[in-house]
Amino acid sequence: MSKLIKEDCKNFSIYNLRSWKALDNNYYGGSIIWTSGYDEKKDDIRYILNKDEGYIELNYRIRRHNSDEEWKKISYKVPLTTTSCHYGKKRYWFICPLYSNGRYCGRRVAKLYLSPYCDYFACRHCLNLSYDVRNKNRRGRFGYIGRFFDLEEQVVKLEEQIKIKFRAGRPTKKYLRLLNKARRLGYSADIVNGTLGKP
Ligand SMILES: [Zn+2]
Repeated sequence: MSKLIKEDCKNFSIYNLRSWKALDNNYYGGSIIWTSGYDEKKDDIRYILNKDEGYIELNYRIRRHNSDEEWKKISYKVPLTTTSCHYGKKRYWFICPLYSNGRYCGRRVAKLYLSPYCDYFACRHCLNLSYDVRNKNRRGRFGYIGRFFDLEEQVVKLEEQIKIKFRAGRPTKKYLRLLNKARRLGYSADIVNGTLGKP
């Protein structure tokens, strides 16, 4: 199954996998297609999700922007981990697979990015994308992405904080805030709600 993501910097998140129902299976193969990448071409990666063995394998090819060099085939596994959330369900995370300056990152993250300066998907910390979050007025390559993952982080944080979603059958203020933010990210209430029990 192929999916489209329209963003400046190639990225995908656990939320995407959830919304594509990939995480409903122990073993799942699919592809992700970006229609506008930094090189303004259609790009895609193929992935194999293996929940039993705890990884997502990424397969794609890459070459430098505007270069004539040969395409390089890239294939590697990104480990997955889980945390438990309310109602005994599991939440999935990526473990950032990048080694930089001789150190393994290993951060637990919900989203991975492919920057033009690195051949591998990695967390925003490794790719130094956080600078633009703190400097919202700065208009740079990652300005838009900065706002996007800022919102995504708020959603993850809110999801972790919220213990009571409904009171007397009605959504709590905090939960409504979460749903609104999630909708702005393009996730339906169902997806955010995917790990919840009945009100
Ligand atoms: Zn990292």
